[in-house]
Parts: sequence; structure tokens; C-alpha cells
Amino acid sequence: MGWYEALKDGISVAQKADNLQLVRDLLEAQQQIFDLVNENNQLKEEIKRLNEVVDIEENIERHKDAYITLKNDSEKLIYCSCCWDTKKALIQGQIVNTGKYQCPACKTTAYYDREAYNKSQADAISSIARGGRY
Ligand SMILES: [Zn+2]
Repeated sequence: MGWYEALKDGISVAQKADNLQLVRDLLEAQQQIFDLVNENNQLKEEIKRLNEVVDIEENIERHKDAYITLKNDSEKLIYCSCCWDTKKALIQGQIVNTGKYQCPACKTTAYYDREAYNKSQADAISSIARGGRY
């Protein structure tokens, strides 16, 4: 017999015996057990979430420029290091310029290849200096 049935039977017996204080005590115990079951379920969810964070953390590759990739990702997609460091959220960065990405969540714009960015800027400037368009 589970706790719920046991308490229900106990409450029923206490009601038949007209023991109001025992009915109240059993109802209070029942509520406390409900609260503990809910808290237990929330803690299980939190442990699951934290284990997922640990799994991702072990798979993260950090780079000198502020972005992260995953060891097991052959495409080496870029993720926002700001979102990971502050919220443990893995948000894919959108490439917005040669060498730069932007996070769609926190709007951080950062380098994923500073050298490529600097070269593209230098190429654009020299193109303008030559009177051309880029
Ligand atoms: Zn972000």
C-alpha cells in the first residue's frame, strides 16, 4: 500500500471515529507529503538540467576570440560564449560579417576570426582608396 492510500484509509477511520484533530493532522501530513513529492520532482528536473550542462561543458572548446565550438561537432558551428557563461544557454551565432558573428539572443557581436575580419576591412579600405567599389 502506498502512502496516499494509507493516509486516505487513516483519514476515513479518523472521520468514522469522529476524531477531528486526527483528521486535521492526517490532512496536514498529506499536504506535506504532496509538497515533498513536488519538490522532489523539481529537484530531479534540476539535476537532469545540471547534468546536461556538465555534458555540454565537457564538450566545449574555447577560443581566444570570444566564441565557443563543440568538440564533437564536425561542422564547428559557432556558439555565443556570453550566453553560455552567463546563462548556460547554447545559442548559435549568426555570421554577420567576414570574421564576425552576432548572437540572436543577447545581441553580442564578436570575432570568430579576427585576422579574416581585419583582412576584409583592409581590402575594403584599399579598394575604396583605389576608387573602386567592394
Ligand atoms: Zn549570446
